[in-house]
Amino acid sequence: MAERMTSENLPVVVIAGRPNVGKSTLFNRLVGRRQAIVSDMPGVTRDRKEGEALLRGRRVRLIDTAGLEEAAPDTLYGRMRASSESAVAMADLVLFCIDARSGITPADAHFASWLRRQNRPVLLIANKAEGQAGTNAALEAYSLGLGTPLALSAEHGEGIADLMGEIAERLPPAEKSRRREAPKAEGEEDERPAGPLRLAIIGRPNAGKSTLLNCLLGEERMITGPEAGLTRDSITVELHDEHGPIQLVDTAGMRKRARVEQHLEKMSVSASIEALKMAEVVVLVIDATLGVHEQDLQIGRLIEREGRACVIALNKWDAVEDRNATKKAILDRLEISLAQVRGIPVVTFSALTGAGVHRLLPAVREVYEIWNSRVSTGELNRWFEDALERHQPPLVDGRRLKLRYMTQVKARPPTFLLFGTRAEQLPDSYKRYLVNGLRETFHMPGVPVRLQLRGTK
Ligand code: GDP
Ligand code: GDP
Repeated sequence: MAERMTSENLPVVVIAGRPNVGKSTLFNRLVGRRQAIVSDMPGVTRDRKEGEALLRGRRVRLIDTAGLEEAAPDTLYGRMRASSESAVAMADLVLFCIDARSGITPADAHFASWLRRQNRPVLLIANKAEGQAGTNAALEAYSLGLGTPLALSAEHGEGIADLMGEIAERLPPAEKSRRREAPKAEGEEDERPAGPLRLAIIGRPNAGKSTLLNCLLGEERMITGPEAGLTRDSITVELHDEHGPIQLVDTAGMRKRARVEQHLEKMSVSASIEALKMAEVVVLVIDATLGVHEQDLQIGRLIEREGRACVIALNKWDAVEDRNATKKAILDRLEISLAQVRGIPVVTFSALTGAGVHRLLPAVREVYEIWNSRVSTGELNRWFEDALERHQPPLVDGRRLKLRYMTQVKARPPTFLLFGTRAEQLPDSYKRYLVNGLRETFHMPGVPVRLQLRGTK
């Protein structure tokens, strides 16, 4: 079973504070990429996000928490606080943010006193202090008992260089890195990188993606709940199975939801697409109690188009009454509608109870191997001659196409180049015949197989 990876010996820096003080903006600033969604709506950043930042030459693991707001434990805020507590517990440094424009609020004061009791190094940040704004609040912030506040503006980028220096000074001394650097592939883009397998979990809202992620991580890492649209953003976490590390990208739901502001939703969708692009293997989570939805198929086609390996996860299997009939109906639908990725592995489980989830990562590893596989040119052409004999290439304009030979030009996904006179005129039906033959003969179920044509004289 997978366990969360704790051996990454990067120092952990946690950004904390009540909602809307600018934590996500600061996180983005430090990580340097648009990883978190920023919005004017309070409480939009609900999940913990992680990224890597390079500060004065030191790599740190940066964690953006949900708001540390006082609330009863059965509310959303209460659950967010529980999530923040565990982040703070593992922090080498906490960046405690306040909003210099609104001054110190009771919530700030309450959490400052809580934070003081956690015995973690804290750097107090007065954000939104662009152009000397909020100097008073910054002074007031001394009263929190967390040392000298550092005034900056995450949004305008003022004071960020100073902040980086301040953080670097407070980090524990650098250990010798035990990590080996990934070897640089020369000109070969399809070489298997040395890093972790990159996996994305995607699917419609409420399919159970967050529950699955929690189950895989074995801790209440993300906040899940019946509120649709709780997971609006992508987060990255690492876990380990017996074959090594897996980097997991969890994404927001891809469905349009009326009650969420549209620009937010658009950003969520593009975050999903981005996650899909950076992933090697994609787990498409489907709520089995609802069957296959057109949108699931759209996502499936997108995965095929992007050339990613895919595992289909039929979740909520605990709540399915007639399992045989349900499975058959779903498989039939997929077979018809996702013919391009024939033989796609399908795993059934309950992310809620955990039953069957142990089958997911082995299926992921397997499809990953296939996605990376290579066929030797000799084997390939022996099969190819056979295939030509069994089914002659069609006539085009009354002349038979002369197909000569085939070679695999890359993996990830397996891509083959076919040479022949006027090969580029090969009809799609014959291409499909060849692709299906390749897939079956060389055992490549569930991954997109590409066939490129090159005309010769
Ligand atoms: P979080 O909920 O604490 O993570 O806060 P966000 O990062 O989502 O920011 C909340 C709001 O504050 C957004 O509208 C940001 O654009 C705004 N904001 C963030 N940093 C600054 C800043 O330095 N100056 C000003 N004026 N606004 C900021
Ligand atoms: P997400 O939007 O895809 O991240 O979905 P969530 O993980 O937030 O789950 C949505 C709802 O489905 C929650 O109420 C979960 O408790 C519920 N759920 C998730 N997995 C299962 C499961 O395996 N069985 C059942 N019965 N419910 C589940």
